Amino acid sequence: MLNSVRIRLTLWYTAAMTLVLVVLAAATYFLLRQNEVRRADANAMELADSFLATVNAELGDVSKPDNVDPGIAAAIAEHRFRDVVFVVFDPQGDLLGVSESDHLPRRSEDPARATLTAALRPFVTAPDTFRSIRVGEHRYRSYVRHFSIDQQAATLFVLQSLHRQNEFLETLAGTFWIVIPVAILLAGAGGYLLARRSLSPVVMMSAQASRIGSENLYERLKVQNPRDELGQLAGSFNELLDRLNESFERQRRFVADASHELRTPVAILCGEAEVTLGQEKRTEQEYRESLQILREEAKRLKHVVEDLFTLARADAGQHPLAPSDFYLDELAAECAKNVRTLAAAKQIAISCEARAELPIRADEALVRRMLMNLLDNAIKYTPPGGSVSLRSSEENGRYRVSIEDSGCGIPAELQPRIFERFFRADKARSRGESDGGGAGLGLAIAAWIAGAHGGTVELTRSTSEGSVFAVFLPKSAA
Ligand code: ADP
Repeated sequence: MLNSVRIRLTLWYTAAMTLVLVVLAAATYFLLRQNEVRRADANAMELADSFLATVNAELGDVSKPDNVDPGIAAAIAEHRFRDVVFVVFDPQGDLLGVSESDHLPRRSEDPARATLTAALRPFVTAPDTFRSIRVGEHRYRSYVRHFSIDQQAATLFVLQSLHRQNEFLETLAGTFWIVIPVAILLAGAGGYLLARRSLSPVVMMSAQASRIGSENLYERLKVQNPRDELGQLAGSFNELLDRLNESFERQRRFVADASHELRTPVAILCGEAEVTLGQEKRTEQEYRESLQILREEAKRLKHVVEDLFTLARADAGQHPLAPSDFYLDELAAECAKNVRTLAAAKQIAISCEARAELPIRADEALVRRMLMNLLDNAIKYTPPGGSVSLRSSEENGRYRVSIEDSGCGIPAELQPRIFERFFRADKARSRGESDGGGAGLGLAIAAWIAGAHGGTVELTRSTSEGSVFAVFLPKSAA
């Protein structure tokens, strides 16, 4: 049950609500009680002043020389309240007078009076102060005031009954005991409905998401309000599906293109072998020619398989770089030397120029492969008699190696696509070459190698007079 977010939210909400209500109720109860006590204290002080004023007034009456007790008696007679009792003691603790109230019967021998005076007697000599006392079932707020009448000390207790306040507070507490549980129940039910309503889009999204698989990756979650949090979640999920779909599509295209590329050399191999074996008698020369065709196609097949393997490993992030320190200008010169025979066969002039020493830390084998792919292309797409030049330099804190040819160039509308896998601007020509033919993977691999080193390969210029490819690499590329 606790695994449901709805239930957990409801429980949290109800617990928080309970805490708030209980704290509020308790604070209200105690503040009101405090207030009542303060009011009782202020009232008691006022009454004490009034009581003593009456006592003094009676004392001032010179026609009654010995009127101490009568003075108190007169004040007591004058001060009769339903909830207030006045009690006067002399310093020895002898009772000088007690007023009447609803709580104290008139009869002086009533045990309630005796209990009350007995409860007060210990505080006769205590300093002027307020205190709460309980006499029998009654709670009083008592105020002690010491005074003297005609040089005789006396103590006045003003006792304010808290009976009515207590009744009010008890009623309030009783109301809280009913209202709070009802409020908590209502809050819990409301919280549950609210949580259910707020989470219903999540439940709906989850049901929709569970129906999406590789065969219907084009489907998307419905976004009710793209601005709220759940709308943003659905939006992010849909973007993830877009990326997945794109990557699936790429993968599908890659497999289809790869099988197509592999089918041709395999078909040639099988066909050639069958034709050769189908004829009864063949001369050694004929066998040699057939084997040469088989070797060329096998070489081409090997080339394509190697390229595919490289890209597959790169895609899976399983082609770690093996960095070492070397000079980029020297590597470029070495690559130019390696293709010299190939170029010479087509009467293409190769030149190599380095403006400075370019020490670099990178994966030498991969950088060599990238330069060789670009040089191979330059020779492949340059007609006999043309030229290919390789220049290495430092530019804006990066290294640049550019390969320029005087070849056929790439039509402007196809230029943005040449780094795509299996893309060939001129299929007939690139397949027809005798050097193993291109499968349209050379530039894709070059771009991956540059990217893996934090650099780029760009086609900087391509016209009918030739093309320039430039490789940019950071100094510490690994
Ligand atoms: P391929 O194996 O077909 O050469 P690449 O990925 O190396 O594949 O190149 C992709 C396409 O870009 C080629 O088929 C070709 O049409 C074009 N291309 C690449 N380099 C050059 C170049 N130097 N001159 C003209 N076209 C080029």
